[in-house]
Amino acid sequence: MSNTLLAEVASRRTFAIISHPDAGKTTITEKVLLHGRAIQSAGTVKGRGSGQHAKSDWMEMEKERGISVTTSVMQFPYNNCLVNLLDTPGHEDFSEDTYRTLTAVDSCLMVIDAAKGVEDRTRKLMEVTRLRDTPIVTFMNKLDRDIRDPMELLDEVETELNILCAPITWPIGCGKLFKGVYHLHRDETILYQTGHGHTIQELRIVKGLDNPELDAAVGSDFAEQLREELELVRGASNEFDKDLFLSGELTPVYFGTALGNFGVDHMLDGLTEWAPAPMPRETSERKVEAGEEKFSGFVFKIQANMDPKHRDRIAFMRIVSGKYTQGMKMKHVRIGKTVNISDAVTFMAGDRERAEEAFAGDIIGLHNHGTIQIGDTFTQGEDLKFTGIPNFAPEMFRRIRLKDPLKQKQLLKGLVQLSEEGAVQVFRPLDTNDLIVGAVGVLQFEVVVARLKSEYNVEAIYEAVNVATARWVYCEDGRKLEEFKRKCSTNLALDGGDNLTYIAPTMVNLNLSMERYPDIQFAKTREH
Ligand code: GDP
Repeated sequence: MSNTLLAEVASRRTFAIISHPDAGKTTITEKVLLHGRAIQSAGTVKGRGSGQHAKSDWMEMEKERGISVTTSVMQFPYNNCLVNLLDTPGHEDFSEDTYRTLTAVDSCLMVIDAAKGVEDRTRKLMEVTRLRDTPIVTFMNKLDRDIRDPMELLDEVETELNILCAPITWPIGCGKLFKGVYHLHRDETILYQTGHGHTIQELRIVKGLDNPELDAAVGSDFAEQLREELELVRGASNEFDKDLFLSGELTPVYFGTALGNFGVDHMLDGLTEWAPAPMPRETSERKVEAGEEKFSGFVFKIQANMDPKHRDRIAFMRIVSGKYTQGMKMKHVRIGKTVNISDAVTFMAGDRERAEEAFAGDIIGLHNHGTIQIGDTFTQGEDLKFTGIPNFAPEMFRRIRLKDPLKQKQLLKGLVQLSEEGAVQVFRPLDTNDLIVGAVGVLQFEVVVARLKSEYNVEAIYEAVNVATARWVYCEDGRKLEEFKRKCSTNLALDGGDNLTYIAPTMVNLNLSMERYPDIQFAKTREH
């Protein structure tokens, strides 16, 4: 292992933000970029209707809707680290995309609206991070509003999300009376100033708790209250413990306001100091360490038509080990081919640039001409297959039909390409010429029709279809599979990647078939 490689890898921090919609993910992303000097001034946040949009939101659709449909990647330097922030779509209809993005990070920032506490979507996303024990940093947002009692918020996180809380900062007042936070590790109070939401503020700091300057700065009532609360906090809550943090059992908690750009820097300081450098990943063969000399990576997302001028499809790859250099040869393991990669892209603060080199922990974008699928592994020759990047069976189904029947080929091409992204699935029943679209949320159906029109020039409409659920089917025994195919052909279809799928009209039907064919495996997720 070369020292430069190890140093580069050690400086990487790759994380994503998880939160309930409206908790402030977009706003905090923007402030993180501001602190990373990736943007000059904040205020370009997607204002619904303000005409300006955060750098991470670039598709027409999401501009109109004010939600992030796509995942993008932003890289910036901070405190001697190189941070990769992976944006995840906030709307729950896009949760699959989010799940897979979470397989590509080493830590997560959980943003909670402190007026509301733990919300539904946060709960679900935390379940996903649990699958890999991802370390979590917590930011309690919107302190410039009237929030709930901070102690109660920590309690709620602990009991509902089953993770210990270690407050690193503690708030003084809230809403109009928000005065700032006391930093428990630095023993200093950082004072909040309003009106600096768009720029990096000059800090006003009071050292020590018993400093009379604190009384002067926040008022003696607040100072007294802070001293009392801290005694309680120190007695009742957990101290930060790095091992527990790294094993996903404890989260450091910060308080602040993303809108007011206060506290985001404290959180980033903690994240860059404590969050893990690129972690090893499991493959079907062995564990791959980030510092290994040889390059390897996996594709966790495919995005069609990112740049309307070029009509390209980008496969997002998380580098797991080693180093990418422009023009290098990689083995595309699933198809057993060696390819020359000369034009990968990086995502420096949302602008796509050509990557000359990139290291474990980084994300690069490969131009995909239809050969790359989600979950694919690339190596420098070794036959590995990274595991744990699932596709989820859709829960809603519609038949899609053309307005102009002559465009059937275009429609199929569009659907197959869009399904490569993993947000929807397309199913072609073995016995009919229907095309059935499956999605995990209603919004995805709309997105598909809109994109088919704008990107493939195909106008399509939906019809109801009698499908309740789908399962990918497998069987070791070829003869039994053939028999099953013969007897159940009316319920079988091929998905966009030609995988055999059972599409059940009802759950009862599915259960009956599962009983009748015990040798057939009916899988809810598909590992690519
Ligand atoms: P997302 O849906 O999680 O991406 O949330 P946004 O960043 O779009 O924020 C949702 C709303 O909350 C927007 O109107 C933001 O301006 C507002 N918001 C975000 N952070 C704060 C904050 O710290 N204080 C207040 N008062 N509003 C905030």
